[in-house]
Amino acid sequence: MSKYCQHCGSNQNKLSTTCNNCGKSPFITFDEKDSSELNFGLKAVSFCIPLAGLILYFVHKSNSPRKSKQACHSALYGMLLGFIFQILATLAGA
Ligand SMILES: [Zn+2]
Repeated sequence: MSKYCQHCGSNQNKLSTTCNNCGKSPFITFDEKDSSELNFGLKAVSFCIPLAGLILYFVHKSNSPRKSKQACHSALYGMLLGFIFQILATLAGA
């Protein structure tokens, strides 16, 4: 049974860990596959409702680290903004 490089398509030696044609790993790694972006709607939801962002973080954590990171960041920015507004509201009320 022969293997093919997923980068250049050349036939691979069974035991090789790097492609003899392009020098890359014949098999695309998890990181390279994970180029998906969290869509804007979900980012906005994470931003407005940090808890939703936290849920998205855990949902995507196992299969898409990139998406989970983006959800996490949106939630953090949302929380930070909410915190600032709370301080402003407190100051305004005092
Ligand atoms: Zn190759």
